[in-house]
Amino acid sequence: MAFTKLAQDRPRILIVGGGYVGFTVAQKIQKVIKDAGGVVTIVDPNPYMTYQPFLPEVAAGSMEGRNATVPLRQHLRDTEIVGGRIVSINHAAKTAVVEPINAGETFELSYDEIVLGAGAVTRAFPIPGLSDVAIGMKTVEEAVSVRNWVLERIETASLTADEAERRRALTFVIVGGGFAGIETISELEDMAREAVRRNNRLRVSDLHFVLVEAAPRIMPEVPADRAEKVVAELRARGIEVLLNTSLADATDGHLQLINMGDKSPAGELDTDTVIWTAGVAASPMLKETDFPIDERGRVRVGADLRVTGDNGVIEGAWAAGDNAAVPDLTGGGVGGFCVPNAQHASRQAVTLANNLLASRNGESLKDYYHETIGVVAGLGLWKGVANFKGKTIGGPLAWMMHRAYHGTAIPTTERTVRVMATWALNQVFGRDTSSVRHQRSPRLAFQQATGTAPEKSKAKL
Ligand SMILES: Cc1cc2nc3c(=O)[nH]c(=O)nc-3n(C[C@H](O)[C@H](O)[C@H](O)COP(=O)(O)OP(=O)(O)OC[C@H]3O[C@@H](n4cnc5c(N)ncnc54)[C@H](O)[C@@H]3O)c2cc1C
Repeated sequence: MAFTKLAQDRPRILIVGGGYVGFTVAQKIQKVIKDAGGVVTIVDPNPYMTYQPFLPEVAAGSMEGRNATVPLRQHLRDTEIVGGRIVSINHAAKTAVVEPINAGETFELSYDEIVLGAGAVTRAFPIPGLSDVAIGMKTVEEAVSVRNWVLERIETASLTADEAERRRALTFVIVGGGFAGIETISELEDMAREAVRRNNRLRVSDLHFVLVEAAPRIMPEVPADRAEKVVAELRARGIEVLLNTSLADATDGHLQLINMGDKSPAGELDTDTVIWTAGVAASPMLKETDFPIDERGRVRVGADLRVTGDNGVIEGAWAAGDNAAVPDLTGGGVGGFCVPNAQHASRQAVTLANNLLASRNGESLKDYYHETIGVVAGLGLWKGVANFKGKTIGGPLAWMMHRAYHGTAIPTTERTVRVMATWALNQVFGRDTSSVRHQRSPRLAFQQATGTAPEKSKAKL
């Protein structure tokens, strides 16, 4: 059944997801489509785009969670926003099924053209106990929870006489040594160090941060010698970096590690905190569509970003970003395809929007071509690593490049100003290292007041 409150009488361009791809495409085409009598509709469960490169800083309290988002309604005034999740698409019939957030029955949305920008989800493996103890780093909610949790663990440890409990509370494990994992562990360690310095019952040496990486090196995006330098810097900060190591069991937070080569035991440790950043996979929703999907679950597109199957172009369907296998015409990329990152997603979105408008005017389409300009990563305050036009840079300069790049790359001037203002204020007053307790049980205070609070159980991330 169609939902009558949505535009029914106008040709619709349906955008699945309001992330980098969805937000950028809508921004570029909304006015033109509206003026031509059509409607651009974004369906996303979140009312905002998430600027994911800021999540490690949110987890470390260097940035407010909301500042890492760009509100869709505020910035896409000529776009119809639908708070829901697309659960299936029948492109042959040009309909998508939408599941509204929270309440309401699923309904069908018809469209004329579709843009697939559903991104990726955290890719985990069936490791015993993992889903009970671990958390990802893909959403603002995860990042905010990690911040509060780490600070709460520090507070808890400072009041625990039991040495094993204290060590467990202060052991923080990050699995995955890609950009997201390295930024997360570095930023968190930086915050934890500051929190411990403000707590005279603990010492910085009590903190135990552990990075577990299955490959023989970290950060495949930067040259090997720079990656080795980053490992050396992390180790100098007291972070334990375990390469060629994998997590075999996480039951009840008792982690069993193994060597990647011969699968022999590589140690055991107890922790309350496991953050999983070991990769992403294209949105599983794509499996519920009639689009051509490759072996990695991504929708197949040509270099002009039209969905393309074995029998050629599928009219009226476009895709880009993490949910698409976009050919990398520079000859780089993995397996001939662009790697899933924001640098590509935001640029592909611009090409997609231009091509979509060009196709309506019968003009020729352009192929997506982008030579990577470099990468930047923040590793805590005044620490960073960058690889720019073949040159590798570390330390405060790389950190400033990271902030300058991301501070201006977040869409809209309004967000840039908010982000810069937060950074400036934190530089002057220092970052806030107190946790907002019970964020996930906000009714607890009321329940305690009315004597209906549940019995205290062991805290869990
Ligand atoms: C911690 C972290 C740090 C990163 N740092 C960097 C960095 O420094 N540099 C860089 O280049 N890249 C970085 N990336 C990668 C980058 O964020 C992604 O490549 C980029 O977000 C991909 O854009 P996208 O539009 O394809 O997907 P997304 O931005 O993920 O957007 C997808 C959108 O689709 C919505 N959605 C999903 N499923 C559905 C559905 N079924 N129905 C409707 N909507 C749906 C989601 O809610 C989301 O809003 C980082 C990623 C992470 C997690």
